[in-house]
Amino acid sequence: MSTETIKTIFSRAQAGETLGREDALKLLAIPNGSREYYELLGIANRDARRPFANRGQIFAQIGIEASPCAANCAFCSLAEDVFDGKDSFVLPVSEAETITEQLVKAGVDELFLMTTANYGKEAFLSYAAAVKKHLPKAMRFVANVGDFDEAYAQKLKEAGFTGVYHIRRLGEGVDTRLDPGQRIRTLDAARDAGLELYYCVEPIGPEHTPEEIVDEIFRAREYPVEVMAVMKRVCVPGTKLYSRGEISAAELAKICAVTELCVRPKRAMGVHEPDELCLMAGANQIYAEVSVNPRDRSLQTERSRGASVERAKALLHAAEWEW
Ligand code: SF4
Repeated sequence: MSTETIKTIFSRAQAGETLGREDALKLLAIPNGSREYYELLGIANRDARRPFANRGQIFAQIGIEASPCAANCAFCSLAEDVFDGKDSFVLPVSEAETITEQLVKAGVDELFLMTTANYGKEAFLSYAAAVKKHLPKAMRFVANVGDFDEAYAQKLKEAGFTGVYHIRRLGEGVDTRLDPGQRIRTLDAARDAGLELYYCVEPIGPEHTPEEIVDEIFRAREYPVEVMAVMKRVCVPGTKLYSRGEISAAELAKICAVTELCVRPKRAMGVHEPDELCLMAGANQIYAEVSVNPRDRSLQTERSRGASVERAKALLHAAEWEW
C-alpha cells in the first residue's frame, strides 16, 4: 500500500472526517515501528486529548461472584473447564458496600459490578440496589453481567444502573458457548431500555484477523457508544487459549489508535491491559479492579493482576493525563 494512501487517510482523520472500514483496514496494516505507525499513534493521541479535555478516567470494577461458568469462554479463569468451583463464592454484600465506599473516597469516576453468566438475575438486582446507596447521586453505575432481554434491562435501570458493559466477543460462539446472535440482542435490549452501552473490541489475540477486529470497531458505531475500549487477551494459565499467546503492546496500541479514530467516543476510550503506549495512542481510561477477574487465577485480583486506584492514577500521569 502506498505511503500516499496512508497520508490521505491521516489528512482526512485530522480534518475530523468519518473513516470507513477500508480506511481502518489500511491503518491496521501499517507495520509496527514504522514512521507511519508513530504518526498514527500521534494523530489518535491528539484526536482524543481535545474531547476528553486532557482528563483521564478511572473506572472501578468489583467482581462480586465466582463460580464455574457454563459459558466456558476459552480465555477465562472462571470457565467451568478451568475453575473447579472449590473456591466458589459470592462477595458478601456488606464487603461490597465497604469496598464501594473506599473506591468512591479514592475518587473513581464510575463503578462497575461484574458477575459470571451463572449468577441469578434477581439476586443481582437486590445486591446492586444495596451497593447503589453508597454512590454519589451523579456517579454512573454499570452492570457487567450475562445476556438479558429488554424487561430485565428495565429492571437494571430501576435498580439504579445507568449503563451496561456488553460485547460480542471476538471468537464468540467458537471460543465461547454463547450465541453471538443473543449477544447482539442483549446490546439492542440495553439500547432500547435507555441504558448506556460500554463497548470494547475484545479479547484480541494473535489469531484475530483485521476484518474481525474492524467488525467490532464498526459495531460500536451502530449504537450510541460514548465509552469505547480495546482489550488484548491475556494468557491465563490453564485456559484453552493459553497456547495461542498474546498480541504485543505495540499491536494493541495500533488497534487502540485506529479504534479511537474510527469511533471517536465522546466520553472515554479505554484500554486493557493498560500501558503508557496506549495512553499515548488515544486511550484515556483504565480500570481499578477488586475481587474476581476473568483474566486472573487469583480471586483477589487487587493483590495480583488488578490495578489499584493509585496504580491507575500513576499510569495516567505517566502519559500526562490529568486525574
Ligand atoms: S468471560 Fe464471563 S461469561 Fe465467559 S466464562 Fe468467564 S465469567 Fe463466564
